[in-house]
Amino acid sequence: MKSFACGDVVPGCTASWVSSTDDEILVMVAQHASAVHGIHAVSAELAQSVTDRIVVVS
Ligand SMILES: [Zn+2]
Repeated sequence: MKSFACGDVVPGCTASWVSSTDDEILVMVAQHASAVHGIHAVSAELAQSVTDRIVVVS
């Protein structure tokens, strides 16, 4: 499984996700970024920084 914590990109945010694929995490992060952080379009740079911080968990 893959895991991503929003706080790794946005200090102070406690949201985190676990999914089987990077793509699913990116979809959930995009929804969260729009709803919570007012980021309505995830740039390539942001997507890359999220991908870079996705960790593999068992
Ligand atoms: Zn967040």
